Amino acid sequence: MLALCKVLPEIGGLSLEEVAIPEPQAGEVRVKVAFTGICGTDLHIHNWIPFASSRMKLPTILGHEFSGVVDAIGEGVSKASIDDFVSIESHISCGRCYTCHMGQENLCMNTRYPGVEEDGGFASYAVVPEKLIWQQSSEITPQIAAMFEPFGIAVHASLKGRGVSGMNVLVAGCGPIGLMNIIAARALGANRVIATDVSPVRLKQAQELGADKVINVSDAKSNPVKTIKDMTQGNGVDVSFEYSGVPESLDLAIHATVAGGELRLIGVPAGPSLVNLEAILLKGLTIHNISGRKLFSSWEHASKLIRDKQVDLNPLISHVLPLKEVERGFELLLKGEGIKVLVQPE
Ligand SMILES: [Zn+2]
Ligand SMILES: [Zn+2]
Repeated sequence: MLALCKVLPEIGGLSLEEVAIPEPQAGEVRVKVAFTGICGTDLHIHNWIPFASSRMKLPTILGHEFSGVVDAIGEGVSKASIDDFVSIESHISCGRCYTCHMGQENLCMNTRYPGVEEDGGFASYAVVPEKLIWQQSSEITPQIAAMFEPFGIAVHASLKGRGVSGMNVLVAGCGPIGLMNIIAARALGANRVIATDVSPVRLKQAQELGADKVINVSDAKSNPVKTIKDMTQGNGVDVSFEYSGVPESLDLAIHATVAGGELRLIGVPAGPSLVNLEAILLKGLTIHNISGRKLFSSWEHASKLIRDKQVDLNPLISHVLPLKEVERGFELLLKGEGIKVLVQPE
């Protein structure tokens, strides 16, 4: 079968290779892949940042956002049957550590990911542990099913802390999951939704997806804190979602959030960052760190929202490409074109 592999420990280093179809071992299922999304993590692997180089053994098949149909099961599998239509959770938590035992498997420090430490979904077939299987409703399309994994992060972030119902919120950073957070916040009853980014293209998408106000923070005249306060009776937002990982954006979130409000941090900074702890402390801001999704309550909530048509993720799909053109999908996203690129194996 054809598979997109990281083959060389360098920037780029990707190759479409002909590899053997994998066989599921005990406790594993094999999925005939329908669609796989290209994620920011895949771009990180392309760019060979420390997250990738410290975790990956090469060659490895990329891809952790995928849907498909179960076509083979290993010994002892009880949660899946042949022909099940499924999406794949990406946290292969250990299930044995203190954090896992405390019901926080998404924070397990022994977590492995398909497409990073294990072979993933940019291939015709992928083998995963059965506990990663999410049985998907037939009302969901295979394309949307491939987007549950990232959408689950936006849902988890939206429901964390005091949630978003009735809240004025700032979404700082409008990549695919930031955009999904705008959609989720709207569906879950946010009052005002304000979005910031440095890309006019992304801000236009944010507006089309339901943001009340978009602010280009690269514009020196934009004065985002004033704009946000003007829209919120001088108070600032109740909740800021930080998706960019950029220190300046976190600083904006700190200043744009009302005293006693919440910062929800999702974007991972590239390294240690200077943070204005004094402002956080004096304003009594609560910080929630969002890592992945809750297993599997985020999936349940995501399913409700999508199945009951409270949200529509279709507008986020900018390109659907055959696997043999996957490298073009990477190029589009690295150039900042496109939102969610879905890849269809043979
Ligand atoms: Zn991802
Ligand atoms: Zn664990």
